[in-house]
Amino acid sequence: MKIAVVGAGAMGSLFGAMLAEAGNEVWLYDVWVEHVKIINKDGLRIEREGQTRTLSIEATTDPEQIGQAELVIIFVKSTHTASAAETARKLAGSDGAVMTLQNGMGNADILSEFIDPERVLAGTTSHGATLLGPGSIRHAGIGTTTIGAWAETEQGRERARKLSDFFTKIGIETEAVDDVRSLLWNKLLINIGINAITALTTIKNGQILDLEITRELSRNAVEEAMKIAGQMNIKVREDAVDHVYAVAEATALNRSSMGQDVDNKRQTEIGTINGFIVRQAKRLGMQAPVNQTLTALIQTLEYHYQ
Ligand code: NAD
Repeated sequence: MKIAVVGAGAMGSLFGAMLAEAGNEVWLYDVWVEHVKIINKDGLRIEREGQTRTLSIEATTDPEQIGQAELVIIFVKSTHTASAAETARKLAGSDGAVMTLQNGMGNADILSEFIDPERVLAGTTSHGATLLGPGSIRHAGIGTTTIGAWAETEQGRERARKLSDFFTKIGIETEAVDDVRSLLWNKLLINIGINAITALTTIKNGQILDLEITRELSRNAVEEAMKIAGQMNIKVREDAVDHVYAVAEATALNRSSMGQDVDNKRQTEIGTINGFIVRQAKRLGMQAPVNQTLTALIQTLEYHYQ
């Protein structure tokens, strides 16, 4: 299959590499010139459990070079989805599929403004990756990928099932679900309960559980978001708070992605996580003071980065 990855940072490079190693024609597209140059010159370096392998893979800063792809995978941060969608529209041509496995909410809606929603797939992945520097990533964790069709039509679902079978066959364990909105909301609730709190306080994920007052803050943020989901008729897991605590425990020594962004003075994905809840609450005439406060604090921190 001919596949283009838009946003070839940690996760884009990882998925691009796994797909290329399985024999697909893969192109990495990124706006980061130095990264692309190094990949083309020396190959992409992938570190996994202390071993490093180098993969020869096509990378470009010019989407015109790629031509049309059967599958376009979006892996920019959610703050850049609109510009990635514009590129994806060209790369996918008239019948390619476009898939997002990004965190945050709103990515698939943005993609659907540019591409026929019938061809948009969304999902989550438990693979984890870290960018070590230009041309170099670490495959930090392996897990399941779950996808579904954004347009809840039979044609869309069939596309999601076929793609998940294809991914699984080549070694990227993937499941297809019918209710992709619930899937994304359940992931969103985890990010809501962990990311901003850890980013603001410099703690690791597991430390959310150490103090009752921190657990309560996490619980309040999640329960507030669950109320919004209820108003929107989105089914989320009833034990979402316990699930957040379980994820915090299972990833106890990790610094959340938002934590890493703040540590490195990078723009975070707050607007599509807690900020998304605030916007939905406003739209529905509801209140979301906990998520509003977390959003305001992160945005203040970002504004004052040196
Ligand atoms: P990253 O910052 O490492 O990579 C993003 C890349 O996008 C960068 O290389 C950047 O140069 C590029 N980019 C920015 N604007 C672009 C544009 N308009 N066109 C093309 N490229 C552009 O981010 P990441 O850690 O790979 O995360 C990507 C997404 O995946 C995020 O939504 C993140 O939350 C999600 N995610 C990350 C992980 C993880 O372990 N890192 C796991 C699951 C989900």
